[in-house]
Amino acid sequence: MAECTYQKTLSELVDEVKKYTKFGRVADYIPVLGEADPNALSVAIYKGKGSCIAAGCIEEKFTLQSISKVLALALAIMDRGEEYVFSRVGMEPTGDPFNSIAKLESNSPSKPLNPMINAGALAVTNMIIGKNTNEKLERILALIHEMTSNTDIGYCNRVAHSEFETAFLNRSLCYFMKQHKVIEGDIEELLELYTKQCAILVNCHDLSKIGYVIANEGRNPQTRKQVIPQHIVRIVNTFMVTCGMYNSSGEFAIRVGIPAKSGVSGGIMGAVPHGIGIGIYGPALDERGNSYAGMKLLESLSIKYDLSIF
Ligand code: GLN
Repeated sequence: MAECTYQKTLSELVDEVKKYTKFGRVADYIPVLGEADPNALSVAIYKGKGSCIAAGCIEEKFTLQSISKVLALALAIMDRGEEYVFSRVGMEPTGDPFNSIAKLESNSPSKPLNPMINAGALAVTNMIIGKNTNEKLERILALIHEMTSNTDIGYCNRVAHSEFETAFLNRSLCYFMKQHKVIEGDIEELLELYTKQCAILVNCHDLSKIGYVIANEGRNPQTRKQVIPQHIVRIVNTFMVTCGMYNSSGEFAIRVGIPAKSGVSGGIMGAVPHGIGIGIYGPALDERGNSYAGMKLLESLSIKYDLSIF
């Protein structure tokens, strides 16, 4: 099919699922996120070597939030190795919400279930190497720059600050894990790094490029550089399938079947193995914290182009 035919189909799909934005709600537990336009919906699909189709307001920027968990995990494994990382964080999905504290106490040993929930992600971010918060953040950004070939990507201080000031639950998770020696060091510094990592600003096009690198064995198609080693990409891909959409991951695997990761800003990053990268932004969320219309859009795309990996 010609590029313009795909483009037309994509625009039609976005128009069709846009009605679902009104069933969702913008997250406001991080106060600044509450300012997002609930009606927004945009998508970019990257096919490598500069080829991209998009629909909606794709220049609009949003923060990665939980999507950053995938990148922090890749970096932590590169820094510390698999054995170290998974001695402190588990590999099992959970039916609990992403910010739940319950299993930390009931699990033995007391380590977080997986790196895609907040407890696990905080433990993972704690493993990133650097002499201070700034250097660690710069290393996360450098990885994203290498994946996207876009060195303008930075973070939004307003969103980071807004989360830092209100992150009482994440603070509790951290102090609990420090008590149980899952994490070490200064908790306020860790929260500063984590909230800045979550506040990294991208648009759908950037996000689709990140998805593309993950879909294609860790290689940037423009520079041909192996940005993330292949065996680590395999691990993050698997977590995206089993835990990427929080406690909707099972239903999402059945209905959509694309490795994906969502964030409470309304972003979803999709990675179709050996295929395309997808970046979606739709800030009105369902009750589990996934973009309402974004999920519908991915479902339509998966059915239309037979994208499920199952
Ligand atoms: N920064 C957010 C938090 O920790 C990320 C959560 C998310 O996107 N699900 O609450």
